[in-house]
Amino acid sequence: MVKRVDVVVIGLGGLGSSVLWHLSQAGVRVLGIDQFDPPHDMGSSHGETRITRLAVGEGEAFLPLVARSHQLWREIECLTGVSLFTQCGALLIDSKSDSWTKHGAANFFDKTVSYAQQSGIPFQLMEKAEVSIKFPCFNLERTDRAYFEPGAGFLRPEVAIEAQLELARLNGAEVMTGTKVKEILPISGDRVKIIFESGSVEAGQVVVAAGAWVKDFLPERFRTPFSICRQVLHWLPIERGAYNLGNTPVYMWGFGGHMEDFVYGFPSLDGRCVKMASESFVPIEHPDLIDRTVSRKEQIDFFEEKVGDRFLHLKRNGIESKVCLYTVTPDANFIVGHLPGYKNIYIASACSGHGFKHSAGLGEAIAVDILGLDIKVSLEAFRFF
Ligand SMILES: Cc1cc2nc3c(=O)[nH]c(=O)nc-3n(C[C@H](O)[C@H](O)[C@H](O)COP(=O)(O)OP(=O)(O)OC[C@H]3O[C@@H](n4cnc5c(N)ncnc54)[C@H](O)[C@@H]3O)c2cc1C
Repeated sequence: MVKRVDVVVIGLGGLGSSVLWHLSQAGVRVLGIDQFDPPHDMGSSHGETRITRLAVGEGEAFLPLVARSHQLWREIECLTGVSLFTQCGALLIDSKSDSWTKHGAANFFDKTVSYAQQSGIPFQLMEKAEVSIKFPCFNLERTDRAYFEPGAGFLRPEVAIEAQLELARLNGAEVMTGTKVKEILPISGDRVKIIFESGSVEAGQVVVAAGAWVKDFLPERFRTPFSICRQVLHWLPIERGAYNLGNTPVYMWGFGGHMEDFVYGFPSLDGRCVKMASESFVPIEHPDLIDRTVSRKEQIDFFEEKVGDRFLHLKRNGIESKVCLYTVTPDANFIVGHLPGYKNIYIASACSGHGFKHSAGLGEAIAVDILGLDIKVSLEAFRFF
């Protein structure tokens, strides 16, 4: 007998685990499948921390998503007892006025300020002297501008994935790990067949939340907007007492007109090192072909070109690094909705390097969209197809 469920979710990372949980909440018979054993370090949702901000300069359409996500992170914490969201504030530093483009948004710094003003999100603008007193690890130039948002902070992606999968299981969702989906076949009678190595399952709907592997599930003509880009996270040793979690915010620093003139980071979680990274937009062919080793030269280049003397109390030696994957669209928007011509295949791509903070609200909105329930957060801005 062929196994049948209402919905299959392919990919149980940041977004898929959220979709699975919300579908299971609605009482749907749902099966989640992942090629690895989430949370894992092969996709886009690993590396201990992700920044979250409320006044997201990426665009107005993202404001309700992140606001809803902040509510959901706290709800998940209450339901599971884990700690997901540390509200330590975020400091955005702009070293070149009007030129900082981030995740598709020109004038990112000014947009952030204006969204905060419009939406009543508490913030403070600061100059060098004030930043030096409050956050002594940041070495601003006299002309730099800084924006501080106290309600921002960081999320723990691996903990969030594990918690949402656990909540989904408690609601009766099935989870299959170590199972690579090979193909989705539309079949007659409004159903699709999901084929993997050891068998297949039929479903009324399939949600593709495959992150950097999304193109494996798309016809050729829909693959163009997605570029897969290798990213490197660095853990830099610090001097004792610096970058304390108690008094260091998360930070994003734009210092030029190019998208890669950028560095961001977190407070120290262990008192020994601090995680920092930049962004890279060089496309690779396929996520399975990515080079996961990081050379000493890459570490030194990062230190010299991005860190420089912007940050104090860091050590150059003993840097540890890890590779992660971005799935980037030309305007850094998300792509969410049914594949044209396939009313049972739903693409859920939280992409372009800024998706984790939205994944809780996006997962809920996708579940609502599929089930035809009352919409809380609109997905219209993310329809591409
Ligand atoms: C270095 C880095 C830093 C980032 N920083 C931030 C940040 O500070 N703030 C922020 O908001 N966002 C950030 N992001 C973006 C955010 O982390 C991602 O947008 C988000 O995690 C993507 O989640 P996902 O579910 O789409 O992908 P993933 O979590 O990678 O999940 C995709 C899943 O699909 C599975 N899969 C794929 N193909 C198959 C198949 N054939 N069969 C079965 N399973 C399959 C994979 O195994 C994987 O588990 C960052 C991303 C990176 C890489």
